[in-house]
Parts: sequence; structure tokens; C-alpha cells
Amino acid sequence: MSNELDDNCIFCKIIEGKVPSYTIYEDDVVKAFLDISQTTPGHTLVIPKRHIPNIYAYDAKYAGEVFSRIPMIARAVKASNPKIKGLNILNNNGKLASQSVFHSHFHLIPRYTENDGFSMHFTNHNSEYDNAKFTKVMNDIKKHVEK
Ligand code: AMP
Ligand code: ZN
Repeated sequence: MSNELDDNCIFCKIIEGKVPSYTIYEDDVVKAFLDISQTTPGHTLVIPKRHIPNIYAYDAKYAGEVFSRIPMIARAVKASNPKIKGLNILNNNGKLASQSVFHSHFHLIPRYTENDGFSMHFTNHNSEYDNAKFTKVMNDIKKHVEK
């Protein structure tokens, strides 16, 4: 896993201080700053201080170090405004999945109302699955689990 920053990466530039950010927290592992889009007020990004392009590129140790910071940052976001009723944490991987910056990041999106600027839709396809189909999908994934 590379430690190097990428000169062409906007988030690496933020880490280096070459691009300004509204930083709410940083240490040697992560930086947390306001997302410029502010999908809802307080929308925050947590990024690793290494140029990790996506979730697949983490090793377990570094993932643990990065993820361990998220609950504390989530609590700070939540505490910042009594109107915050919920919090979605989102990590997009790949262009199709709406990743636009290819430096891994976790969106912390405070939720205020059902129509606050953020929404998700989970389609329920359960009726299309029988035991055989569930079993096939399970095994297709299971055989790739690293031991
Ligand atoms: P994603 O689409 O999941 O890759 O999210 C990338 C996010 O980075 C978007 O929500 C952008 O608004 C945000 N973003 C891009 N450039 C900046 C920047 N300079 N400062 C803060 N947030 C940024
Ligand atoms: Zn980067």
C-alpha cells in the first residue's frame, strides 16, 4: 500500500494545504473537512492521509486506523446542531457508484427531514429470489473472501 500523495489529486492537495478546506479535525491518519457541496448543513468528508483510491486498496490495519476515527467525528457533527435527527455515512467506489474524487473518502451527511437534500432508494427484489439464487450469490462472493 503506497504512502505517497498524488500531485493530481484534489484531496492530496487539501492534505498538503495547497487547497484550502474547512477542517474540523485532523491527526496523523485522517483529515475531516466540510464537503464543498454541503448536501445538507454539516456534510463532512473523512479522508485518509494516504492516497488510497478506493475501499479495495486498504489493508486491514490502515482501514482500522481510518475507520476508528469515524464515530468520534460523527459524534461531533451530530452534537453541532440539535436539528440533526440522523446521519448517513456513505462511501462511493467507482464512477458508476457516484465516486467523483478517486481518493477514498467517507461522507457524513447529517439528516434533518425527509426532504433535506439527500435521499437514497433501496429497491426490494426479494420476490425474485429463491433459495437457489440466494445460495448462488452467497457462494459467488464467499469464494473470494480472503482468509
Ligand atoms: P464522491 O462523489 O463520493 O467522489 O464525493 C466527492 C465529494 O468531494 C463531493 O461531494 C464534492 O462536493 C467534494 N469535493 C470536491 N472538491 C472539494 C473541495 N475542494 N473541498 C471540499 N469538498 C470537495
Ligand atoms: Zn489523493
